Amino acid sequence: MKKIEKLVIKGMTRRFGDAIALHNFTLEIAGGQFITLLGPSGCGKSTALNCLAGLLELTEGEILLNGAPVQHLPAEKRGFGMVFQNYALFPHLTAQRNISYGLEIRRVPRAEREQRVRKALNMVHLQDFGKRYPTQMSGGQQQRLAIARTIVLEPSLLLLDEPLSNLDANLRNEMRIEIKRLHTELGLTTVYVTHDQSEAMSLSDKVVVMRQGRIEQIGTPQEIYNRPQSLFVARFMGYLNQFPGTVIGRDGEYWLIQTASGVQFTASSTAAESTNWQTGQRVLACIRPDETLADPLPAENHVQGHVRLVEYVGRAYEILVQLADERGTQLLVHSAHAPEIGTPLTFGVQPDRLLLFPDDEMTTGHTSEEQDLVDVAAM
Ligand code: ATP
Repeated sequence: MKKIEKLVIKGMTRRFGDAIALHNFTLEIAGGQFITLLGPSGCGKSTALNCLAGLLELTEGEILLNGAPVQHLPAEKRGFGMVFQNYALFPHLTAQRNISYGLEIRRVPRAEREQRVRKALNMVHLQDFGKRYPTQMSGGQQQRLAIARTIVLEPSLLLLDEPLSNLDANLRNEMRIEIKRLHTELGLTTVYVTHDQSEAMSLSDKVVVMRQGRIEQIGTPQEIYNRPQSLFVARFMGYLNQFPGTVIGRDGEYWLIQTASGVQFTASSTAAESTNWQTGQRVLACIRPDETLADPLPAENHVQGHVRLVEYVGRAYEILVQLADERGTQLLVHSAHAPEIGTPLTFGVQPDRLLLFPDDEMTTGHTSEEQDLVDVAAM
């Protein structure tokens, strides 16, 4: 199998008329890496993938495969393989003919073809399905067939566009593990598109979070999950509770925050990352529901409210808590136990799990905030 040593994407930009679908997309991919493009609907993920595949021309920018530019090559000359969201299988051909078709076009001799088709069917555990037509196969089997049809051509780069989105939750988990296994076994350099954070977390070496055609953050799953660099990424990664507040001082390694809800928080400086907060600065203190603690209550950062709704989400209860502040703040918290609706609830959060971001509301108005809400709602 051909191998990528390095794929460098420099300033990849794509316009549709006046609209910029992809702006200055720059990324370096090492051979064998699994990269995920993650972001809400319309942020440019598929455009980036299609530009890489050669299905869309770049308006600007370069794609360097092991140092050689490939952005002007047609799709079939790049040696990349793409698996589409809707599988794009040939309905009138059996599974083995679907897989064999690309090899026939490339005039691979019959004996080799048969051997490679067999190997590809085995690889995706479809050895007993070679004679079936796609309509006689389940969604998961069709998905595996679509992958087999692509990997049989031994692409140097595998491109997957939301491959699991048409599958139900159980199959999605199963296929996610299959994709991980295939990647580990074949060592294929892979770019995977999804709007699902957990897919991105579990599969990737590196996650590229996108927003409105631009890269918002690149990092390992751990970096993106634990250290989002912007409010947008934080929200996307589940920091759903946000308290507007003001920095009122510093106590050693802690920042003290007075929130508009009347609660005082301490946030450790590691959580606040490199920002040197100024006293009086407006901030948003962000907390992930699954990092709230009610029992046992941590030493700091207590918030009191009343239980409004309780929902069982497996492993924990998700609780909507109403604060008694003038703003009518509502928060989502997790608890191992189901409290009664209407009862008081106190929860807390550890200082290093409370993230601070500048609250730009005063300087920029609500435009980007509103756009984020629209983006996240569209996921
Ligand atoms: P989704 O998750 O919904 O597939 P996406 O992140 O893959 O979204 P893209 O399909 O890349 O987003 O679209 C990015 C932007 O470019 C969108 O605003 C979209 O409307 C626009 N766009 C995409 N294709 C075209 C096209 N052929 N003509 C005009 N605009 C387009």
